[in-house]
Amino acid sequence: MKIVEEGKWKSHWKHQIVCQEKECETTLEIEESDVQVRGYKGRLRDNTFFVKCVVCGHEVSLKNVKIPLRVVETLDATLKVSTYYD
Ligand SMILES: [Zn+2]
Repeated sequence: MKIVEEGKWKSHWKHQIVCQEKECETTLEIEESDVQVRGYKGRLRDNTFFVKCVVCGHEVSLKNVKIPLRVVETLDATLKVSTYYD
């Protein structure tokens, strides 16, 4: 297969958020390599995505941030399989 023109799948992602810790509230620019995940493989959007604030060290939830599917899938692949439905 040959790529005629690159779409947006691989485009670099970054996003601005404000740390939710009341005594911090630092505005941060995050990139895909900053995103961490907690949850189970295959749950994708149900999993908890977050970053750690570089200033206060607290977790900042990315619940309301639209993370590209490519980034979500990459992180999902690092998770363990849930045994819930086994
Ligand atoms: Zn903070």
